[in-house]
Formats: sequence, structure tokens, C-alpha cells
Amino acid sequence: MPRSSLAMALLLCLTPGVNRALEIEKIQLPDMGDSSGTLISPLQEKELGAAFFRNLHAKTDINQDAEIQEYIHSIGRQLAANSDMPSNPFHFFVVMDPNINAFAGPGGYIGINSGLILLSESESELAAVMAHEIAHVTQRHLYRQVEAASKMSIPTIAATLAAILIGTQSPRMGQAAMMAIQAGNIQFQIDFTRDHEKEADRVGMQILTQSNFDPRAMPTFFERMQQSTRYYGRGIPEFLRTHPVSESRIADTRGRAERYPYRQYPDSLGYLLTKARLYAMTEPNKAVVLQHFATLQNQGTAEQRAVARYGLGITHFESQQYAEAAIQFQKLVDEYPNTPQYITALARTALDSRNYDQANRLFAMAAETFPNNDVIKVEYSRSLLKSGHPERARQVLLSLSEPRRTQAFYFELMSQTFAALNQLGESHRYMAEHYFATGRSDDAVMQIRLGQKAQNPSYQLQAILDERLNFFLNDIKERKRER
Ligand SMILES: [Zn+2]
Repeated sequence: MPRSSLAMALLLCLTPGVNRALEIEKIQLPDMGDSSGTLISPLQEKELGAAFFRNLHAKTDINQDAEIQEYIHSIGRQLAANSDMPSNPFHFFVVMDPNINAFAGPGGYIGINSGLILLSESESELAAVMAHEIAHVTQRHLYRQVEAASKMSIPTIAATLAAILIGTQSPRMGQAAMMAIQAGNIQFQIDFTRDHEKEADRVGMQILTQSNFDPRAMPTFFERMQQSTRYYGRGIPEFLRTHPVSESRIADTRGRAERYPYRQYPDSLGYLLTKARLYAMTEPNKAVVLQHFATLQNQGTAEQRAVARYGLGITHFESQQYAEAAIQFQKLVDEYPNTPQYITALARTALDSRNYDQANRLFAMAAETFPNNDVIKVEYSRSLLKSGHPERARQVLLSLSEPRRTQAFYFELMSQTFAALNQLGESHRYMAEHYFATGRSDDAVMQIRLGQKAQNPSYQLQAILDERLNFFLNDIKERKRER
């Protein structure tokens, strides 16, 4: 395909099936010029990334668990800090999906499926895949594949990209993606070049080792992904389709890893607890999970036994067996009083069993001991809200770190808080932001209109509502224009 063809190939993850289908439907368009220069400004890239993420929200189950979010952020930050672009804004998130996949979208949005995390057997293996994705971003592979700018607007490109990504997981959405492309008169060319994959391995390996993870984990995990196809009779893991791993790639990666001296790389507690938590949350057969953790509880180091106990507690919690969960978490807190995850788990159990006084007391204590811990703050605010202390909940929410205050769950909690404070204009304003952040622009507009009708909004609030209404309407208009 000539370089001059109009192509929007932004996503690194697309199944060959969808790709072929698009080839059939391709429409030749005139050359838009510039195939080498900058196609997208940093501001456009930021907008595209945010819009892409909103669309993903609407179509996939993006994990909202504060504990899991915190872990994936922290390991992502650690890796990104050792990349060529330490100040680049990266956004790491977990998609609740059993398929083994990870992907890099525009604007530094990197998603990791829960299935991939559960397949990993060490933190370095998970880090290896994340480092590979970070390398795709820092090497700007996404934009190198963009052959020419499109006349499509950012909301439309973002929606199309998100639809294509879902197409890798659901044939129905793949159809929707195709229709969007045809309607938009654009042609996608996804080219998973071997050079890009090899470069992402090489650069990813540097990021991995500089971040103090095991370089051998990269070839080992690639091999396991290949084997999972053979041994478990599954389809090819999504990750291998979109980042095809050849024997030579594994050999190259293995060769590079062997240059580093062998040593032990212990997993962080955050990794072990995240895996235990994801397993307990996603495995439908809770009896199997209980058996799994009960067995592990009698093996390994003191820390590993504690993690197994945590897994037991989470499984009970997920099954709403709060008394049993509390027994496990209380033991952990007694033994490890300085581990925030154990205190949070105990406090959440108190909250969900409506033991509000105990929950608030535990959260308050934890918030004082760990003043910078956003997970505790999020859960504490929920507890305050449920127990009828909305003003204190609002204060705790406002003390969250800045990135947290742009996330969908924050807007929802703020909306609930203002509703409890009987400030309905503010409540609708935040609900609008929640809907917009999760890809529901029409519902966002409705919330703004409800906010405008609320009693006595301040002049300042009115101005905000007007401004946001225009913004949301514009977003909807731009997408409709191209349909
Ligand atoms: Zn790749």
C-alpha cells in the first residue's frame, strides 16, 4: 500500500480478521499530503487519548477498584520513569477481560487485561509486557503508522479506534467499527511491522532492567503465552495476534536477557495482593478460589501465607460473607499493622456489613497513618457518605491527588456527596462529568440541563454549566456531522 494513501492506523492492536475485512472495503482517497511531518499536535494527541479512553469506558469493563488502580498506576509510573519519555503523560488501567491482552492507544493510554495479569507468574513478567507497550508509545509507533491526517474530528477518530479495539474481543463491535470507517470515508491500514515489535522488545527490555525487574521475564512470558494456546486449547491470545511473537523474537529477547547476571527479583506485595484480589473477583466458582487460597495458606514464606489469607478474606467479602472476611482481615491487621491494604480491607468489610462506626474509625486511623494514600481516602469518603457525613466526605474527596480527581469514579462520588448535601445543581454538574468521562455524552447533556433547572444555582455554577453544556454539545455535533 502506498505511503500516500489516506490511512488512520492508530491502534497497535487489531485482529487480522478485522484488518482483512477492512481491506475489502477500502476506499481510495486523495493524498492528504504530509506523510513524514508531524501529524498531530501534543494538544490533539491529549484530546484524542482522552476521547479514546471515554469510548473504551462505554464499551469495556474498565476496572474501578481503587486498590487495583493504585497498583497498576504505581508499577506503570515506575517503568515510565525509566523510559526515554519520563515526563510523558501515561495512563495505565486494567480492563476486566479474561482474554490475554495489553494495548497502547493514543495519548499514552495503556490498558492491561485482567486475564494477562492472572497469567503472569511474577511481577517482572507483567512489567515486561507493560514495558513493551510503553516502548510502543515512546517510539511513537502509533503515529509512525499514521500515513496522513484525516479530515475526521478527534471524537470520531477516538470512537473508531475504540470500536476497533473492541472488535478484537467481540465480532459484533468489529462490525460497528467497519461501519464507522465506511461512514467516515476513511481507510485503515494496520501494519504490525516486525521492526516495530522488535524495537518495542529492545527498548522495553531497557526500561525493564533500568526499573529493576528481571530481563529474563520477557522471553519467559512470551513463551508461556504461546504455550497457553497449545496446552489449554484456547484461541491465540489477543496479545500474540496484535504483537505477533515469532521464534526469532523470543530467541533475540532471550539472548539479550542472558547478558544480565542472574539474580532473584522478589515480587512486591502490591503485585501479589493485586493478583489475589483479581482472582477472587473474577473466578465465578468461589469454592475453587477458597480451596486455592486455603492450600496456599500452609505453604511458602510468611508473606506468601499472608497473601493467601488476604485472598481468602477477599473471596469471603465478594461472597458477602462479611463475618468470615473480617476474621481473616483482623488477623492480618494484628500481624501487619503497617500494611495499608489489610487495614483498608478490614474497614471495607465493616462498611459493607453496615458497621459504620467501626468503618469510619478504622479509615480515620488509616488516613492519619498514611496521609498520601488515595485508596484509603476514596474508601473513607464512601464510608462517610454512607454513614451520613457528606461534608466530611467532600473534604476527603477534595484532598485526593490531582490525577484521581479527573477519574470517572471521583465525579460520581462528588455527585452523590452534593446530592446528600442537597446542592442539586452541583450534584448534576458532577454527574454530567461522570457520564461524559464514561462515554455517555447524551446523558451528560441531560444532567447539565437538570442542573440548570435546579434551585438557585450561583452565578459561578451557572457559568460552569453553560460552558460544559456547549462543550458536550459540540462533542456530540462533531461526531454526528461525520456519520
Ligand atoms: Zn507490540
